[in-house]
Amino acid sequence: MKDEITLAVEVANSLKKKDKLHAYVLTGAGTSRASNIPTFRGEDGLWEKYNFEEVATLNAWLKNPVKIWTFYAEGIQLILDSKPNPAHNAIAELEAKNFCQYVITQNADGLHQKAGSKNVLEIHGNLTRVRCTKCNKKQVFTEPPKEIPPKCQCGSMYRPDVVLFNEQLPSDLITKSFDIAKKVDLAIIVGTSAEVVPAATLPFVSKESGVKVLVFNKEKTDHTRIADVFIQGKCEETLPAFVERLSKN
Ligand SMILES: [Zn+2]
Repeated sequence: MKDEITLAVEVANSLKKKDKLHAYVLTGAGTSRASNIPTFRGEDGLWEKYNFEEVATLNAWLKNPVKIWTFYAEGIQLILDSKPNPAHNAIAELEAKNFCQYVITQNADGLHQKAGSKNVLEIHGNLTRVRCTKCNKKQVFTEPPKEIPPKCQCGSMYRPDVVLFNEQLPSDLITKSFDIAKKVDLAIIVGTSAEVVPAATLPFVSKESGVKVLVFNKEKTDHTRIADVFIQGKCEETLPAFVERLSKN
């Protein structure tokens, strides 16, 4: 019997046109696990010692800015210190070799860009980026803020440019993601639990549009039953093996 990586390479190879693959990669928290990133959402997340709704809502930020910014500044330091793992590197290689054109990520850690991915759609935002609560001006932190809470030139407080609890996802990025999910030939789903909508819907939209779906994940999820190939295992091990063999064929 052929192993799953061989099957996945065969599916991908059958879709190549002039050595190019038209594909997107969708990533979730599992992709960054090997980088020891505290996840923003989820039980084992950065917020675990806090009541999620007390720290991850806009109300909380406005009510208790010093306490929350003190805690959040630590998170920014962790993110700035973190490094991409082999899964991020493999995804960047896919794009560099024109085997994928888009990375749609639910992670807010910026590790895809650190690994060299260029076209990244951060649908949950970025933890090192902030925006003014009044004038919406954005800024990227390259070190944790010295002033707590950090303020915009207009005098109002900055908030993280991430999607907080109960907030809407950026509609332009979501629309673009759904368009991509329908128009490519291959969807590569990596380390996502398939629980957070609307990102979790993307593989289903792809499948319905006739797009082939590869799922790289440690555990079975709702996506594995629609997968053309489910490659079970740690994505920082399986994905580099897949990309290496895809490059040879
Ligand atoms: Zn401002």
